[in-house]
Amino acid sequence: MTKVLEDFDLTSYNTFHVPVRAEYFSSFGSMDDLLELSSHFGNHQKLIIGGGSNLLFTKDVGGLVLQNKIRGIEIISEDENFVFVNAGAGVVWHELVLFAVNHQWGGIENLSLIPGFVGAAPIQNIGAYGVELCNVFEELEAFHLKDREIHKIKKDDCEFGYRKSVFKNKSKGQYAILNITLRLNKKPVFNIGYGAIQKQLEQMNTGELSVKAISDAVIQIRQSKLPDPAVIGNAGSFFKNPIIDFESFQEVKKIFPEMPSYPAGEKIKVPAAWLIEQCGFKGIRVGNTGCYKNQPLVLVNYGNATGSEIFEFSERIIQTVREKFQITLEREVNIF
Ligand code: FAD
Ligand code: NAP
Repeated sequence: MTKVLEDFDLTSYNTFHVPVRAEYFSSFGSMDDLLELSSHFGNHQKLIIGGGSNLLFTKDVGGLVLQNKIRGIEIISEDENFVFVNAGAGVVWHELVLFAVNHQWGGIENLSLIPGFVGAAPIQNIGAYGVELCNVFEELEAFHLKDREIHKIKKDDCEFGYRKSVFKNKSKGQYAILNITLRLNKKPVFNIGYGAIQKQLEQMNTGELSVKAISDAVIQIRQSKLPDPAVIGNAGSFFKNPIIDFESFQEVKKIFPEMPSYPAGEKIKVPAAWLIEQCGFKGIRVGNTGCYKNQPLVLVNYGNATGSEIFEFSERIIQTVREKFQITLEREVNIF
């Protein structure tokens, strides 16, 4: 049987690098491995992980932690305009982006350099610079951990929303995602109206706009702004940007007229980073944790933080922001 390790150290399996242990740990690179493990550990709680870049362990994990290592990128069909690409859940997300960029297929270049594996991308409908996974997503295959059956799940049934999906809500923890299929565009439609992309492209002076130029620009912005988890433990944005109704927005705006905002359908999105900075958290350190100096939305581990220390700090941020703005921040990172 696939090797199963007991009392396994998960420090290097989460990008916060918090030291917790799994009762049992294994990985699977094929459906056969997963079937074998799930039948052997039938009654145990199971947690599927990818790169561990969107989770915070606050305690040791009981049951079986399984890292998905199903590999492979395959073109399954194409027509004049689109190509349908299937990728295994254990492929590193940025490898899939580079595959698309190298073919000059558009759709995921704005999602360059997001850490983690392909299988986690649908969980929170990853998004950056005005593009979300759901813009190119077709379907996925997932193994139902209790029924032990493979389900094909189409886009509409994923209930994608802003940093959310059915897999983060009512189907949480029920599936091991095995592979996903994306529809990439042979005639790319460029999306550069967001954040600092346009400015970065001008600075790079790349000439004609291309999928590769956008990907390079996004990579450069990210590398200059975000902490590298290999150097300083973090899981990216700890909180979602709150989306509030127009009336509440107008109330807060009366008191804080300089508050930035963006339309979000009929509601208003307020950058969580601004709210946190206004509360004085940017760049501060509390014990072994704190808010990153360039981006207060990113909580960091300065070396010896425990998961519960980081969680308690996040609780303090939520309370302070609520007291000052009457806005409740919601955690984006998955807490275990
Ligand atoms: P993990 O952290 O391993 O898992 C995340 C969740 O998905 C867990 O609940 C886990 O149980 C579940 N899961 C993982 N794989 C599977 C599977 N195969 N089947 C079922 N469940 C599974 N996110 C964005 O959306 N946009 C960004 O721009 C962005 N930037 C980031 C920058 C940095 C520096 C960091 C550290 C993180 C960033 N993130 C961003 C968050 C993170 O990279 C993404 O959410 C990513 O998709 C997580 O992938 P992972 O493989 O590491 O997932
Ligand atoms: P930024 O460009 O400084 O902008 C701050 C926030 O304002 C962003 O979070 C973004 O919301 C919002 N925003 C900016 N321009 C916008 C526009 N034209 N329309 C609507 N909303 C706009 O942000 P950043 O921190 O450098 O991040 C850049 C992008 O990468 C963002 O999309 C961000 O979500 C993503 N990112 C995500 C993570 C993560 O862990 N989830 C980590 C790092 C970066 P949105 O976040 O809703 O896009």
